[in-house]
Amino acid sequence: MPKAQETILEIDLKSLKHNFEFLRSKVQKETKIMGVVKAFAYGSDADEISLFLQKLNIDYFAVAYAKEGVALRKAGVTKPILVLHPQATNFQLIIDNCLEPSLYNIKIFNEFVALTSKAKQVNYPIHIKFNTGLNRLGFSEHDIEYLISKLSTNSSIKVKSIFSHLAASEDLDEKDFTLNQIKSFKHLSNLFIAKLDYKPMLHICNTSGILNYPEAHFDMVRTGIGLYGFGNSKKENIHFKPISTLKTIISQIHTIEKGKSVGYNRAFKSESLVKTATLPIGHADGIGRQYGNGKGFVMINGQPAPIIGNVCMDMIMVNISQIDCKEGDEVIVFGPKHTAEQLAETANTISYELITSISQRVKRSYLK
Ligand SMILES: *Cc1c(COP(=O)(O)O)cnc(C)c1O
Repeated sequence: MPKAQETILEIDLKSLKHNFEFLRSKVQKETKIMGVVKAFAYGSDADEISLFLQKLNIDYFAVAYAKEGVALRKAGVTKPILVLHPQATNFQLIIDNCLEPSLYNIKIFNEFVALTSKAKQVNYPIHIKFNTGLNRLGFSEHDIEYLISKLSTNSSIKVKSIFSHLAASEDLDEKDFTLNQIKSFKHLSNLFIAKLDYKPMLHICNTSGILNYPEAHFDMVRTGIGLYGFGNSKKENIHFKPISTLKTIISQIHTIEKGKSVGYNRAFKSESLVKTATLPIGHADGIGRQYGNGKGFVMINGQPAPIIGNVCMDMIMVNISQIDCKEGDEVIVFGPKHTAEQLAETANTISYELITSISQRVKRSYLK
């Protein structure tokens, strides 16, 4: 691996392939896999990641918003793309780019049907989302009759899948709750399908669902975090390889005498002679202020260097008193060994938040 010369997010496509193949080994051959590439593929790079997964013959993609799907089409993604949380104002964009909306309430359903009817579409693929306990988005049982009546009199749309989302698939203490969600999903989809003359696909599992609830894979599974190398538990993590390494370098080294301070608001005051390194990465790059003041740490030449003082917009200062290093040396903020999950834990958050926060200012590079 080349040494970093600036802040860079290095993405290892071989690890992505490993994760994809591991997940594929966990589902039946006929079960489809949807790669969730919302939020720049969880902060990595949606275009590169999606094109690579497309080459590996993934079945489907999902994004959160229409704009993300349009970007994928521009990049050359030809596989179907589900838009998980579309807004009516983007419906024309959705149709123009052959994206497939998730419809989750009567209002948005009717708005979409009005547009597909007006545009004289036939069998435009839509996905029906049911709420089974997350209480975020989704139809409930009492909407089914209305949906079926609309579907039976309107051929401009066709239900490609029926799906739901688990609230706590990673938490085995909530197993009863999750099993109830799965049961409720079966009940709702049976009611729905009984009144259709065709059979849409069913899906409910995210990454932790794939691993913890093999009986609930149905026709397709949706994986996000697993592709990027995290399994939501220590037990699962051993099967995955984090695909991204966030690297930076030492811009400058200072020797701080006892009683002097470092950074804004003088948040760090030295109680003895300390050596600090200033790194070109800050909260505008995705390392939030919650990592400052001794909470988070980076790795320099294999040794942990705690972040001291307040995180600045473009820089952090770390304590290197115990580390043999020099200006220009490479710094690992997180990677396969010092993982994003471990760093996230120091600030009481989760890998999802840390990796999706790495801003677009940070250059991406690829190991192929
Ligand atoms: C983000 C998301 C996923 C992916 O979840 P992971 O835990 O990252 O695998 C799946 N389904 C829906 C509806 C989502 O919003």
